Amino acid sequence: MADRTPLMAANWKLHKTVAEAEAYLAKFLPGVPEDGVEVVVCPPFTALAACVEGCAATQVRIAAQNMHEAESGAFTGEVSAPMLSEIGVEAVVLGHSERRTYFGELDEALALKVPAALRAGLLPILCVGETGDEREHEQTEKVLRRQIELGLIEVDDDQLAEVVIAYEPIWAIGTGRTAAPEQAQEAVAFIRELLAERYPDEAGDVRILYGGSVKPDNATELMAQADIDGALVGGASLDPEDFAAIVAAAT
Ligand code: PEP
Repeated sequence: MADRTPLMAANWKLHKTVAEAEAYLAKFLPGVPEDGVEVVVCPPFTALAACVEGCAATQVRIAAQNMHEAESGAFTGEVSAPMLSEIGVEAVVLGHSERRTYFGELDEALALKVPAALRAGLLPILCVGETGDEREHEQTEKVLRRQIELGLIEVDDDQLAEVVIAYEPIWAIGTGRTAAPEQAQEAVAFIRELLAERYPDEAGDVRILYGGSVKPDNATELMAQADIDGALVGGASLDPEDFAAIVAAAT
C-alpha cells in the first residue's frame, strides 16, 4: 500500500480575528507532533499573514479557504493564487460545500481553480460530497463522479499526488451528524476507484480526507479506515485543545 502521510486540516471558516488567531496558535503549536502527520490551518484571509508568521518555525502549513482562478483582473473582492503564495500561504481549500451552496461555486470554476493553485505552488484541497437528498436518492456516486472528473479535468498524471481530495458529505457538515466510519470509507474508496480509472499509477498516492462533524471522540475510528488519510475539521477545530486531540488521532 502507498505510504500516505495523514493530513489534518482546521477550517476556521468565518471565525477568528488576528488577535484570536495568535492566541489560538500560542496554545496549539507547542503540542503539534513533529512528524508522522501534516497539519494545515485555514484561517480567514485577514489572519493568513499573521498565521504564516506564527507558524514559520513549525511544520504547520497555512491554507486559504478559497481563491479566484485568474492571476489578476477585474474581479472585485477576489484574491488570486500568486497573491496567496507571495505571503507564504502553502495550500488552498477549493469547492467547500459552503462556497458551492451559498456563493454559487461551480465545478466549471473548480476545473480552472485547481490548476491555477498548482501553477502557483499551492496544494489544492478539493472538496466533494453529496447532499442528504442526493444520498437518499442513491445519487452519491454520480455526484462524486461529476465533481471529481470536472475538478481534476486539467490535472496531469504527474500533478495528481500534489492534489488532496476532501470527501465531505454535506449532510454531515456542521450538523453534528457524522458519517459512520464504514460509510465514509465506502465513499472514499469509491473516490480512489474513480481516480484509478484515469490515473491508474497515481491514485494510490493521493491523500483523501474525510470531513463532516469530526470530533475528538470519533476521530480515531474514522482515521483507522484504510482509505481515509486525514480530516478536514470545521467546528471542532476552533478549540485548540479539541483540534490537538483530533490531530493526535492520526498519529
Ligand atoms: C468543514 O467545514 O469542512 C467541516 C467539515 O465542518 P464541521 O467539522 O463543523 O462539520
